[in-house]
Amino acid sequence: MGNSRAILIVDENRDQAEQLATLIERIGFETLIATSRDEALPLLERDPRAILLDLMLTKEDGIRLIRDLGEASCDALVIVTGDVDRRILSAAERLARARSLRVAGALPKPIDESALRRFLDTGVDRTRIGSRGINVQVAQTELLQCLEDGCVEVKYQPKIEVRTLEFVAVEALVRLNHPSRGQLSPAAFLAMTEESGLIGRLTRSVFLKALEQAAAWMEEHLQLQIAVNVSPLLLTNLDLPETFADLADRHKIDRENVVLEITESWVNEEPVSALDILTRLRMKGFNLSIDDFGTGYSTMLQLNEIPYSEMKLDQSFTRNATRDREARAIVESSIELGHKLGLKVVAEGIEKQEDWDLISDMGCDEGQGFFIARPMAGDQVPAWVRHWNSCLGRT
Ligand code: C2E
Ligand code: MG
Ligand code: MG
Repeated sequence: MGNSRAILIVDENRDQAEQLATLIERIGFETLIATSRDEALPLLERDPRAILLDLMLTKEDGIRLIRDLGEASCDALVIVTGDVDRRILSAAERLARARSLRVAGALPKPIDESALRRFLDTGVDRTRIGSRGINVQVAQTELLQCLEDGCVEVKYQPKIEVRTLEFVAVEALVRLNHPSRGQLSPAAFLAMTEESGLIGRLTRSVFLKALEQAAAWMEEHLQLQIAVNVSPLLLTNLDLPETFADLADRHKIDRENVVLEITESWVNEEPVSALDILTRLRMKGFNLSIDDFGTGYSTMLQLNEIPYSEMKLDQSFTRNATRDREARAIVESSIELGHKLGLKVVAEGIEKQEDWDLISDMGCDEGQGFFIARPMAGDQVPAWVRHWNSCLGRT
């Protein structure tokens, strides 16, 4: 172990700090001690390998120190600790991650030596939420050019029925094939598309491609539902239900096999026209899904007012549910709520067997995530389905 860099212990209680120092030195690291934020700040110059930070510094200085570390782009591994409610510890852990720090995790006090050892030895957690920001947005002119040049591509991610493991649907996910930057994900262009008023064109293009693809799959005897994401910004266009119905009919796609996932929270300027449009879409036979359920603004109000047919749990809850009691409670209650309202409940972001087992135990209806399959090109779907069915012993 390259232990030349010390572990900085920040703890108001000097006795406890020294006890911890003894323990950490026994594990094999040098230590530094600070009993306040003021003492800790200059010690950052010593480039500590890790910081064991007790949140209970006076005057909420623990939280201030997390801010300081973020502002100083500190690359030390951060372990938050303290004799506080577990939920406060997890919130501080999330805050540290959100400030782009390298976070090993949270350790309640009294500190468990083996957990601390594990964090110090292996806690090389390089995920930085901040790094998503590197994804520079495409400029409006580039976007327009891309739309005109037909650079829109659609990937499809399978959705599986939990009870039967049957492949039942795909979600259409847009990509842009940028001439110089390669294939771009929605994170790089969606905000600009919405701001510049090009979202209607983009959605139409995605919807058309998805319908064409569904028609091609039908030729190969593959009948399934397709889900398309719809930005709430489009819910001011009163012609939308007719346009969508017309496009589906022209491609001979049964409207009941189309799910419209309303992506964002409904911070709509014109709630009446949104209600008008969504109700008519449902009356025309389309399925309506509330996407990223649990993250949105006035979600309960929406559930009460909009005739949704599906609830899609946000992946942040699904992903944390196996290790986080609060996330698990949210998933469980959401599924129950969805079922009480007569909705189909879909979990997205299933990455591991444990995630799948959990949502399956909780009675979720459908699942989607990297554990099952990543988004793929339309022409790869039939082969994937054959493979999936053969794994299940079905033909
Ligand atoms: P979403 O509708 O919630 O779609 C799920 C996103 O999660 C997709 O990201 C998908 O690739 C990703 N994903 C699926 N399974 C997993 C998993 O197991 N782990 C992780 N970490 N991620 C997973 P993508 O394709 O980058 O899309 C991001 C968002 O962009 C979508 O979130 C949706 O809100 C929006 N979007 C995508 N296509 C369209 C579109 O055609 N129109 C509109 N308006 N929005 C779109
Ligand atoms: Mg979606
Ligand atoms: Mg989502």
